[in-house]
Amino acid sequence: MAEAKLPGEFELIARYFRPLAAASPAALALGDDAALIPAEADTEIVATADALVAGVHFLPEDPPDLIARKMLRVNLSDLAGMGARPLGYLMTLALPGEVTEDWLRRFAEGLAQDQKEFGIGLLGGDTTRTPGRTTLSVTALGQVRAGTALRRKGARIGDAIWVSGTLGDAALALRQLKGEVAVADAAAVRFLIERYRLPQPRLLLGQALVEARLATAGLDISDGLVADLGHLCAQSGVAALVEAQRLPLSAPVHTLLDLDPALIGTILGGGDDYELVFTADPAASEAIDALARGLRLAIARIGCIEAGTGVRVRDAAGCEIAVERGGYRHF
Ligand SMILES: [Mg+2]
Repeated sequence: MAEAKLPGEFELIARYFRPLAAASPAALALGDDAALIPAEADTEIVATADALVAGVHFLPEDPPDLIARKMLRVNLSDLAGMGARPLGYLMTLALPGEVTEDWLRRFAEGLAQDQKEFGIGLLGGDTTRTPGRTTLSVTALGQVRAGTALRRKGARIGDAIWVSGTLGDAALALRQLKGEVAVADAAAVRFLIERYRLPQPRLLLGQALVEARLATAGLDISDGLVADLGHLCAQSGVAALVEAQRLPLSAPVHTLLDLDPALIGTILGGGDDYELVFTADPAASEAIDALARGLRLAIARIGCIEAGTGVRVRDAAGCEIAVERGGYRHF
């Protein structure tokens, strides 16, 4: 039997979206034309948007709850990269006729789960039919104290470079899924795929860096360390030198890299890490170590800012490593 088609828009709002808005008083229960967000004195609103298209950013057969959660987390990661505290999100869905109510229910369940995890709610949005592919768009809103947001510009010559968490897990998960690398251990495969499917936006780190005014510049890593650090360098008018042996790697990635040293290119150039990379005065080292302990999050010092342009990566012997791909590009 063919699955039931989607009910009408008002029914969809009542069934799936109004419950998601219950966590946001500003959403006015989706009963008005727009959300009303109380503006606090001396703050700035941080806004970021992202669109996902079926067949481009996810596969139609991917679990809908995971699509929803990754979509939300990727946007929250941009807020983290600016040091913002999240306020909520707006969401627009363009759905083709073949999307079922079961798909939408599981999609909404994924959103509900992560709303709880990150303490946010739906603020508004729109749902429409499309003759094309499923297209999902989220606009996440956050706030920072005016003038304190973490920016890509601000890095100074002599600053050190830090990165949170571990790098390369998601990029190697993708290569494992494509059959390009062989991870022998089942637990390691699970770990890598989890890192790919469910990135951890480093919101608390971003907020702490901003509150303590520790970082001179920073952003989240979505397109790969070399590409995103390159953006920071371009905006700051400086160059970066990264020491490959200092890169923070998970045990499964370490094992893979030992077997095939060429995978350093995937670790440096692959995307989807959603960690934060930031620069700070080397004198901030102890404060950053204390922050890492407080957040129970590894923060590794991986290199330094110098005069010039671009990002250089050096191995333990001091030889430069060429990174063949400067991050993932959609176009
Ligand atoms: Mg970003």
